[in-house]
Amino acid sequence: MIVPTRRRVLAGAATATVAAVTAAGLSDRRAIGAFAAEVGAFVTGPPVPDRPIVRVSPHVWIVPAPDGFPTPENQGMMANITFVVGPDGVMVVDSGASLQIGEMAIRMLRTVTDTPVVGIVNTHYHGDHWLGNHAFTNAFGMDLPRYAHPHTRAAVAGIEGDFWRSAMVRWTNGATAGTEIVPPDRDVGHGDVLSAGGLELRIHHYGTAHTPGDVAVEVAEDGVMCVGDILMERRIANMDDGSYVGTFRTMDGLLANSRTRLWLPGHGTPGPDVLDWQRSLFEGIYETCVATVEAGGDVEEARAAVLRDPRVAACAADTRGWDANIGKYISLAYLEAEQENF
Ligand SMILES: [Zn+2]
Repeated sequence: MIVPTRRRVLAGAATATVAAVTAAGLSDRRAIGAFAAEVGAFVTGPPVPDRPIVRVSPHVWIVPAPDGFPTPENQGMMANITFVVGPDGVMVVDSGASLQIGEMAIRMLRTVTDTPVVGIVNTHYHGDHWLGNHAFTNAFGMDLPRYAHPHTRAAVAGIEGDFWRSAMVRWTNGATAGTEIVPPDRDVGHGDVLSAGGLELRIHHYGTAHTPGDVAVEVAEDGVMCVGDILMERRIANMDDGSYVGTFRTMDGLLANSRTRLWLPGHGTPGPDVLDWQRSLFEGIYETCVATVEAGGDVEEARAAVLRDPRVAACAADTRGWDANIGKYISLAYLEAEQENF
């Protein structure tokens, strides 16, 4: 259920502040002004402290998120924000989980370049990858192009968009409040080419992987592939409408159709081995589930076998989100294995 957190929080703030205003005398205009300012501050969460901006290749900078999940302490700073800096323009790949995070990312971008921002690509519909759009349209205008796969556009403009905005406020105890939904407004699909101010960006999409609408953004000149959540680095999370088979197909497509040297995930540290890490873990989960299904075993047997698999066991100790998500990962893999092998 989506709890109407903002309204409840606002009501609480208003009640407290009304008491203060009454004490000061309602006829006092300054008190009423203070009341309005206080409610405004409460509805809009506080600024996010500056984070380092890091250059990962000649044209690509990221503001990395050390945490994999949103908390009140990190104010939702849980996903990397990427800037591809071309000769005459900057393309943003995923804009962060809130207005405040997007604002911080813009401040950090301005410490390294004055090049204008010319667009955003949102890699998929999970809110930590697009809620920051609001900051970028505030800064650069509503005409700023915002590209995404059609599935992503529909999800963000629909009930999923609202869910993610509300959930992020709840998970951060109000830190992201004030963030408005600014959906992507232009379709991109496999084979499309975008320009980051003169630098070519190639879009890849191979069907459902992490979600039905994932796109990867290739900065071919740098050998960099921005993969969103198709690949993660030492993290597992929401895979509710993803696909193992689709992720393998997507990995194969990305390898066959690019010369990637650096995989840049939405969560975790970019590196040459991110795809191999993800493939090993996913093969450990999925292939074990297929073997269990073929042997007539149930999901509990699959679970035990997966956890014993050395490819999986090797990840258990240092993968963020492990305890909360591994059970669900195995259940989803088992269901998919059943469907694929029926
Ligand atoms: Zn995601």
